[in-house]
Amino acid sequence: MNDLPTCTCCRRELRDHETGRYACTLCEDRIAVHLGAIPGLFERLDDHLARGSSSGPAVSGSKTAPAPLRIGILDMQTERGPVLGPLETWVRDWEEAGYAEVNEAGTATDRVTHACRTLRFNLSRAARQHPAIDEAADEIAAIWRMLSRTVTGESAPRRIAVTCPCEQTLRITLDTRGITCPACRTEYGHSEVLRLPLADRRAAA
Ligand SMILES: [Zn+2]
Ligand SMILES: [Zn+2]
Repeated sequence: MNDLPTCTCCRRELRDHETGRYACTLCEDRIAVHLGAIPGLFERLDDHLARGSSSGPAVSGSKTAPAPLRIGILDMQTERGPVLGPLETWVRDWEEAGYAEVNEAGTATDRVTHACRTLRFNLSRAARQHPAIDEAADEIAAIWRMLSRTVTGESAPRRIAVTCPCEQTLRITLDTRGITCPACRTEYGHSEVLRLPLADRRAAA
């Protein structure tokens, strides 16, 4: 049980019906959305690889898609890559606590699908009872962002982490209009928030 009065993921104050949870219901919903989207995005990596190669030099005469990008996509699809590796690590971790079932059989897509499904199925219990839910939430969000960016080709606005005088880390982009610190409730406008000191690199990751 979480002894803190706040969600370990977003630091919002827990409401009465959330007492004792490690992740608030909003964070639980967000993790569920990410887990739901990851398998479909993962499958679409293949299209992206094919599109990249069909615009090769022999066809268009234009510059080839940059090789490192395609190598990056291939790497994302491997067993030890940055998608399946961390997802299955969480499945094994959650299994020990009784929140997931390991099944590392089949293709990489099968395995990603299984991992997301079992994590999602057990998410409510983990959000209430698993002290490391915040780490899982961060990694799952990072995987979702990486896949979305690769598949849609859009780069997300660069995120910056700044520190509130109360020591809470606030994640913003240059476009952030304003933000309320979830810990001390100070309200910042656009220019005020950009003037806060940058958080250290680890917090920004
Ligand atoms: Zn939360
Ligand atoms: Zn604050």
